[in-house]
Amino acid sequence: MSRVKAVSLFSGGLDSILATRLILDQDIDVVAFNLKTLFGVSKKEGLSEAELGVEQLGVPLKVVSADVEYIRMLRRPKFGYGKNFNPCIDCKIFILRQAVKFARDVGADFLFTGEVLGERPMSQQGPALRLIEAEAGLKGELLRPLSAKLLPETLAERRGLVDRSRLLAISGRSRRPQLQLAKEFGITVFPSPAGGCLLTCEEYSKKLCDLFESKKRVSVADVSLLRLGRHFRLGGNKFVVGRNEGENKELMAAMGRGDFCFELPDFVGPVTILRGVKSRESVCVAARLTAFYSDAKIEKVRVNYGKGVFDRHVIVERPSREEVDALRVGQKKPV
Ligand code: SF4
Repeated sequence: MSRVKAVSLFSGGLDSILATRLILDQDIDVVAFNLKTLFGVSKKEGLSEAELGVEQLGVPLKVVSADVEYIRMLRRPKFGYGKNFNPCIDCKIFILRQAVKFARDVGADFLFTGEVLGERPMSQQGPALRLIEAEAGLKGELLRPLSAKLLPETLAERRGLVDRSRLLAISGRSRRPQLQLAKEFGITVFPSPAGGCLLTCEEYSKKLCDLFESKKRVSVADVSLLRLGRHFRLGGNKFVVGRNEGENKELMAAMGRGDFCFELPDFVGPVTILRGVKSRESVCVAARLTAFYSDAKIEKVRVNYGKGVFDRHVIVERPSREEVDALRVGQKKPV
């Protein structure tokens, strides 16, 4: 008889590690599935959280990206946003749909997640769990091992592929039961529970909102730029000012074909990118922002600029704090 095979929706967070371990303990083959989006808090070096997680469990990991489709979903989420720009219900449905395709490809018998009933306000309440699995085409089929005993029996349990009596009944926001379980399993490496998704971050959400409001067609490159720098807008023009040397280099590397870059030849300061119409006014604004965040404390400042090379210059006045703040990107969500 062939062995039972399951796909684990795997973020690398503690809940997904524990759920996977519970299923592995039933002598079931597990493949971890991770959807990499543009909104994960990426580590500059080393293994990703998902990679670290599977390393401890000894299971294979499939990482998939679907950036363009994810951006499309993010612009008009059917079930709305959470506190910031996080469309958690639509996001989970999106990830599950990708996982369903993968599970079919690898011939998995069922899918499971590390979700815990009542752990998160938007996407992990009972009705939301039911909605998510139905929208993903998995009504009655999605197993949540950590809360399974509090939820209706799934198809995998009814078919005897999984022993329900060995699953758990964890619920609520306290992480104590999970931490205790991690101790029992000897699992020591896992990320802290919050902070893994940029869409839950207020500052990042402001930038994304501004981008969606100002552009009909948003590219992966546009979204990638949001991770870098301070963001300002004047009409159709976007200005991104580097916050440190590393970001200055990344901004230069992220420049689009039509973008202008700005820097001060005589003082330590940022690189600024201007994306949009290159009018006298927008060049002046970009130059003044560059001057504001530099070490230059004099009234009139020379700023070099150009398309990838700094072959032109302009002399500008340093703006006041109020002028700079007036250009900062807004906070509204799109309607
Ligand atoms: S927090 Fe981010 S990654 Fe997690 S479900 Fe919400 S939108 Fe998706």
